[in-house]
Amino acid sequence: MTFEEIKNDEQEYMMHTYGRFDAAIVSGKGAVAKDVNGKEYIDFTSGIGVNCLGYCDDGWVKAVSTQAATVQHISNLYYSPLQTEVSKKLCELTGFDKVFLCNSGAEANECAIKIARKYSFDKYGNGRQKIVTLVNSFHGRTVTTLAATGQDVFHNYFFPFTEGFDYAEANNIDDLKAHIKDDVCAVFIELIQGEGGVMPLTKEFVDAVAEICKEKDILLMIDEVQTGMSRTGAVYCYQNYGIQPDVITSAKGLGGGVPVGACLCNKKLADVMSAGSHGTTFGGNPIACAAAKEVLSRVTTPEFLAEVREKGEYIKKELEKMDNVKEVRGMGMMIGIVTEKDNAKEIAKKCVENGLLILTAKNLLRLLPPLTITYEEIDRGISILKKVMEA
Ligand SMILES: *Cc1c(COP(=O)(O)O)cnc(C)c1O
Repeated sequence: MTFEEIKNDEQEYMMHTYGRFDAAIVSGKGAVAKDVNGKEYIDFTSGIGVNCLGYCDDGWVKAVSTQAATVQHISNLYYSPLQTEVSKKLCELTGFDKVFLCNSGAEANECAIKIARKYSFDKYGNGRQKIVTLVNSFHGRTVTTLAATGQDVFHNYFFPFTEGFDYAEANNIDDLKAHIKDDVCAVFIELIQGEGGVMPLTKEFVDAVAEICKEKDILLMIDEVQTGMSRTGAVYCYQNYGIQPDVITSAKGLGGGVPVGACLCNKKLADVMSAGSHGTTFGGNPIACAAAKEVLSRVTTPEFLAEVREKGEYIKKELEKMDNVKEVRGMGMMIGIVTEKDNAKEIAKKCVENGLLILTAKNLLRLLPPLTITYEEIDRGISILKKVMEA
């Protein structure tokens, strides 16, 4: 098939839910993707923070293909050693007590929302079900996680949305306090707003939120779907802030390219979700768990985390030298670039034409390179970006 045929068939047979770049990716290795015409691209996207080990990493391929040839699915009516291994590893890495395995970020967030509401209902009865999220957040595309998302543009068409969400301004503790009323059961936040434009929360704000939550038995829940899996130089970003939330959610990088999500909760919440209160057909799928097990064994060592931080610093330094760069922000290998000319979308399109895959978020350029990207691949990508930025 030619690129034109693929593009035409996409128009004809698929719902038009995505604005796509003019490239059809068909294979990849490391941080290099190849399109249907054989053209190569340096990948600064990892999907959208998904392929943390890059394309077709040898260990990952072996784990997934071996598992596909062993058992591809069992129902959650039976025990699975892969599910228990992944859950145990997640708990050991974080100090959380229990894990629910699912298939996506939105699903992990749905689980967190259900835990918060049931915990509060069990303990305090009805009427304490509100969840405070932040303005400019992003939590997913289901009707409930859209409601949790603090951006008006997402609150359209699909009425009625799930009730019980309220939005406080990020990094404004007075505004957050004003939203903490007697009906609030949880505060649910990203520590670096990803889709919102790579906006990190301040340590002071996060500390203050943690303190209020603790004082009032309000759950502190962190959406680590984008910031997790060592993306920011710690296994989970909350570890950079020195807090211990009640719940975190994880997905994107967790499976290294297959759909896996997880919701982790602390001991206080261990028994909130009882038999029958939640479930999923595919969650904890053996192939997904084999992939997650490989990812977890690879990206969580102190040496690997140090490398993520070093590469992040190196990329930032190179970016700061470029023309048209107004600000570089983010943590580890989650990086946003504000351009002087406010032309991120145009730059991203030109990068693709020149052989570099790059993301945008709001009016920023956004980089989420594979964590295993080599310095040589980084340099190749940087030189393409430089050429486009300075054109
Ligand atoms: C991507 C993302 C989600 C949604 O994840 P899906 O797997 O697309 O459902 C939720 N929260 C954050 C912070 C994300 O970046």
